[in-house]
Amino acid sequence: MTPDEVIKLAKEKNCKMLDLRFMDFPGKWQHTSYPISELNKDSLEEGFGFDGSSIRGWQAINESDMLLRPVLDTAFVDPFFKEPTLVLVCDIADPVTGEDYTRDPRSIAKKTEAYLKSSGLADTAFLGPEAEFFVFNNVQYSSDPQHSFFRIDSPEAIWNTGKGEDGGNLGHKNRYKEGYFPVPPNDTLMDLRTEMTLTMIEAGIDVECQHHEVAGAGQCEIDVRFAPLVEMGDKLTLYKYIVKNVAAKHGLSATFLPKPVYGDNGSGMHTHLSLWKDGKPLFAGDGYSGLSQMAMHAIGGVLKHAPALLAFTNPSTNSYKRLVPGYEAPVNLAYSQRNRSASVRIPVYSKSPKSKRLEFRCPDPSCNPYLAFAALTMAAVDGIQNKIDPGDPLDVNIYDLEPEEAANIPKTPGTLEEALTALQNDHEFLLKGDVFTPDVISTWIGYKMENEVDALKLRPHPHEFMMYYDI
Ligand code: GLU
Ligand code: MG
Ligand code: MG
Repeated sequence: MTPDEVIKLAKEKNCKMLDLRFMDFPGKWQHTSYPISELNKDSLEEGFGFDGSSIRGWQAINESDMLLRPVLDTAFVDPFFKEPTLVLVCDIADPVTGEDYTRDPRSIAKKTEAYLKSSGLADTAFLGPEAEFFVFNNVQYSSDPQHSFFRIDSPEAIWNTGKGEDGGNLGHKNRYKEGYFPVPPNDTLMDLRTEMTLTMIEAGIDVECQHHEVAGAGQCEIDVRFAPLVEMGDKLTLYKYIVKNVAAKHGLSATFLPKPVYGDNGSGMHTHLSLWKDGKPLFAGDGYSGLSQMAMHAIGGVLKHAPALLAFTNPSTNSYKRLVPGYEAPVNLAYSQRNRSASVRIPVYSKSPKSKRLEFRCPDPSCNPYLAFAALTMAAVDGIQNKIDPGDPLDVNIYDLEPEEAANIPKTPGTLEEALTALQNDHEFLLKGDVFTPDVISTWIGYKMENEVDALKLRPHPHEFMMYYDI
C-alpha cells in the first residue's frame, strides 16, 4: 500500500485512532496509539519516537530513544476497540543511524528472507504454522512472585478426580485425550472458534479449517494458509491476538501455554516449511517420499541443529513439559513420512509437487514467531549449504521401539536450560548474513536464563507441597 492508500483506508473506515504495534523480544505484541490526525505522509515516512528502555530485553536507558516505522502493507482495522482504529505493524529503527534495530524480531525475520535470496538457493521460504491453544473459563494463579499456586477451570474437562472440580452435570464432558473431535454437546467451543475464524478472515488471514483438538479440556486449533516468512510472522501474531480477544469478549481466557494440563495433550505449533525459486517448489523430487535432494539436506540441517533451534521454537520452561512421550508431541530427533512420532514429518496428503514440504513438529506457540521461523529456515539453509545427510528415515512408531533401539535415536532437550546451552554451543548457522547477531544470541540466552530458568528454579512449586509437605 502507498501512504495515500493507508490514509484513504483510515478515512473510509472512519478511524478515530491510529494504533502502532511491534513485537518485543520475548514475543508479546506491544502497542501505542495516536489520534488519527497524526496519520499523514510525513509521519508515515519519518516514523514515531518511543522509549525502548522499558521493553524487555532491549536498549539500555542511556540509549533509549527508538523509532517505530510503520509497514504500510500490514494496515487493518482493529476488530475489538470501541472506536474505529487503524492498526499498523511497525519495524524498529535507530533514530540516529536510521537502520533497523538488530534486536527487533521482525528485522531478524526480514534479514532471513534477504539472506535466503542472496544465497541464490531460493527466493521464498513459505511457513505454515498450526498453532493449538486452550480455552478456559477461570484461571487463577498467584501474582505474588513470593508464592506459587494456580488453578484452572475448563468448560469441558473432567479433571483427574473423575468428579469435576465443582461437580455438576458431567454427562458430556470430554475425557483426557478424547477431544478430537466429537460433535456438541462435547464440543462446547464451536461458536467461539467460528467467531475467531470469521474475525481472522475479516482481518486478512486466510483460514483453512478449525476444529477441537485432542486435549479434552477445551483445546482448539485454527489452521491458516501458508505464507512467506515475514508475512506469516505478522499473521500469526494477529492470529494469537484475535484468539485471545474473542475469548476475552465472552468472559473466557485463551492460552498458548504449551502444557497447561498434566495428563492431557499439550499445545504444539507444528510448522511446515518449503523453499521456492522463480515460482517453482524446490522440495519436490524423486527421492524419499517425493522429496528433492535439497529437501533431504534441509531435513539434515533441521535435525542437526534441533537442540539449539529449540531455544527459539520452544522457548519457555513449560515447553519441555509438552515434549514427553505419550502425547503426540515429538521427543525423538528423526524424520519420517506419515509418522507423527518423528520430529520431522513429510506429509503425504497430496502428491502435488507444490505441496511438498517438511513439517517440524517440535515448535510450540509460546515462541516468538519471527525468531522461530527465522531460526528454522536458517537451520534448513545450513543443511542445504553443507549437504547434511539426515540419515535413514524412521518409518515405525518410535514409541513402539525396543528400549535399546530407541536409545540410539537422538532426543529433544529435556529442559529450556539444555536448549539454551545447546544454542550457546551451536549458533554459527544463525549468524550467517548477520541474521542473528552475536549480541542477539547472548541477550536471548541471558534473558531466558535469568528471567525464566533461574526464576523457576528458585521458587517452591505447588506440587512439592503435595509430595513433601507431610514428610
Ligand atoms: N497436540 C499435539 C502436540 O503437542 C499435536 C496433535 C496433532 O495435531 O497432531 O504436538
Ligand atoms: Mg493439531
Ligand atoms: Mg500437524
